[in-house]
Amino acid sequence: MIRYWSYLDYYDQQREELLRRLDEVLASGRLILGPEVERFEKSLAAHCGARWGIGVNSGTDALFLALKSLGLGAGDEVITVANTAVPTVAAIRATGATPVFVDVEEETYLMDVGRIGERLSARTRCLLPVHLFGQAVDMATLTGFAAQRKLAVVEDCAQACGATCHGKRVGSFGDVGTFSFYPTKILGAFGDAGMAVTSREDLAAKLRRLRFYGMDREYYAEEEGYNSRLDEIQAALLNLRLAELDEAVARRRRIARLYDEALAGVGDVGLPATRPGRDHQYYVYTIRTSLRDHLARHLEERGIETKVNYPVPVHLMRGYAFLGRRVGDLPVTERLAGTILSLPLYPEMPLDQAAVVAEAVRAFFGAE
Ligand SMILES: *Cc1c(COP(=O)(O)O)cnc(C)c1O
Repeated sequence: MIRYWSYLDYYDQQREELLRRLDEVLASGRLILGPEVERFEKSLAAHCGARWGIGVNSGTDALFLALKSLGLGAGDEVITVANTAVPTVAAIRATGATPVFVDVEEETYLMDVGRIGERLSARTRCLLPVHLFGQAVDMATLTGFAAQRKLAVVEDCAQACGATCHGKRVGSFGDVGTFSFYPTKILGAFGDAGMAVTSREDLAAKLRRLRFYGMDREYYAEEEGYNSRLDEIQAALLNLRLAELDEAVARRRRIARLYDEALAGVGDVGLPATRPGRDHQYYVYTIRTSLRDHLARHLEERGIETKVNYPVPVHLMRGYAFLGRRVGDLPVTERLAGTILSLPLYPEMPLDQAAVVAEAVRAFFGAE
């Protein structure tokens, strides 16, 4: 059995250190929003080149609170993509704002920034690029466009912690960058966790209030807020994992290189492209083929797990039918949903297992 993703090999390797840090937190007497959270907020903000980090409960909350901190709500439009995880859209809707979808590029699966202009209206307030699968959106073009039209920018960095665009890390381009530390993510916790980063002092203060019932001081709400805190246990384990991030990404890249080399020119397989001036963290390794469902079955029969990220674009899901979008609105996004397949990839995955996966794909297409 070759698993698509697992943290158990990591747990095997780091069990002692993880348990030591867990014990330290439990013995400290401080469980929520304490020194480990502060350390993690400072470290992650520094890591991505932003001034402040605000730890919250999840990536979805980080997005929701980021949009709230910018004052977005009913009547406002936020331009994003439908080729994303549902939470991107759920967070926009939670503020009352309306998501407006722009199509993506076929070979990178990322927002086609050249088409943002087509979706602008008098109500557009914010651009919300998603750094999907581990690669940054073309942020030079996007932020230039936003500045010209005085639009806010919130980056969904949930899948691309550490990815760069012309040497600058994701999370440092927009007004706010948001991260998820859901266990499968590039920087994964052992439960739910998230963070918003910003270099704007006003937004940092506002985000800190919003995550804690709107309070700056005990038992007094300065404004209407929420409850979205980060706990010390998750932060302590994330501090360890952040220190190991570069090494983990290097291992992801080694597996991706193996797939790149083994699958180039095989059948009608399209490989994930990396654009010049950007790097790829390979949160997932996603290929394209017209025989996707057959290939997935072929691999499953050989004990190889795969996934489709994502089988249905958000604008065509029943839960978002009220937005009134139709088949044909986003041709590239819709075509990709039928052809993409993500292969097994996680940092501790043995290279010989990746070789078995690549060989099984080659065999399916009859490659020698
Ligand atoms: C995982 C993810 C989120 C949501 O993060 P949670 O921590 O699960 O709430 C948001 N956007 C994208 C692109 C994601 O992959």
